[in-house]
Amino acid sequence: MKIIDHIKKGGFSLSFEFFPPKDEGGKLELIKTLERVRALNPTFVSVTYGAGGSTRERTKEVVSHIHKELGMTVMVHLTCIAHSAKELFQIVSEYEHMGIENLLALRGDMPKDSKVDVGCKYALEMVKMIRERFENRFCIAVAAYPEGHIESGGLENDIKNFVKKVKAGADFAITQMFFDNAYFFRFMDMVNSEGVDIPILPGIMPITNFKQVEKFAKMCGASIPDRYIKALEPYQDNQPELIKRSVELTTMQCLELLKNGVKGLHFYTLNRSSATLEIVQNLSSEMPSYANFT
Ligand SMILES: Cc1cc2nc3c(=O)[nH]c(=O)nc-3n(C[C@H](O)[C@H](O)[C@H](O)COP(=O)(O)OP(=O)(O)OC[C@H]3O[C@@H](n4cnc5c(N)ncnc54)[C@H](O)[C@@H]3O)c2cc1C
Repeated sequence: MKIIDHIKKGGFSLSFEFFPPKDEGGKLELIKTLERVRALNPTFVSVTYGAGGSTRERTKEVVSHIHKELGMTVMVHLTCIAHSAKELFQIVSEYEHMGIENLLALRGDMPKDSKVDVGCKYALEMVKMIRERFENRFCIAVAAYPEGHIESGGLENDIKNFVKKVKAGADFAITQMFFDNAYFFRFMDMVNSEGVDIPILPGIMPITNFKQVEKFAKMCGASIPDRYIKALEPYQDNQPELIKRSVELTTMQCLELLKNGVKGLHFYTLNRSSATLEIVQNLSSEMPSYANFT
């Protein structure tokens, strides 16, 4: 199923993001998590990709398991940086042969030791390549940054570049994590005024490890509001209390987004499900029907 077809038919999109585990323990944990998530009948789940191809085989393995064994709709992430154009074409072709129809086209960040040719410098070029060579056989998603991408030189610049990706044929977008909805609403107003009307799904990160998320947020330029810091930082060493507070904060965040008519919610799970599942449970009466129509 192409995710965009579900959204265009008026379906709400509920999705969860996973990364391919490194070892057997991680694999078993992910399999359990996926079973729990499957019970929610999400619209799709997505699997990340290590820029430069570091997870090429592992990503494919997890995608194949979800698609073939679990029968869930899956979106594969693919980063173009540090891949040649030929390699990118091969990877996309492999996914097409596997029956995968949804792809998140990303630039990624150049690995420090990479010496590989760059086939596409920006995600924009990969969107163009897929549309040219695979026509409409893939539903293509792209990344969006409510606070602006860290290298963009400012939100307005970043939005100009985002609009180019949309015009090149992106079907929908998923945002980087943000904790203050004001950034998302401002971003939506700005892109709408540029004529962008594709669905943009907010990326939601429940904080289950304060230091880790603080580090990610710093790296990707997402700001953590003071009220989050005050509510969570004192409980870094008290996991049950941290999770309880984080679930409350994220539930409130999602409720506000739902009230404002978002087309879906995309949860960054970090392969852990319990906080996310609790949030989804809290939202169940407020969430428009998200049942997958396949
Ligand atoms: C939902 C989501 C999922 C992600 N999943 C992964 C993953 O699985 N693996 C991974 O490695 N990373 C992932 N990332 C991180 C992403 O790869 C990085 O944020 C990366 O730095 C930018 O990727 P992009 O696709 O947004 O790049 P682009 O859209 O190419 O933009 C990158 C930068 O270049 C600028 N730019 C774009 N086009 C032009 C142009 N024509 N001229 C000049 N400047 C331009 C943009 O403003 C921006 O600053 C994800 C991010 C998001 C939001």
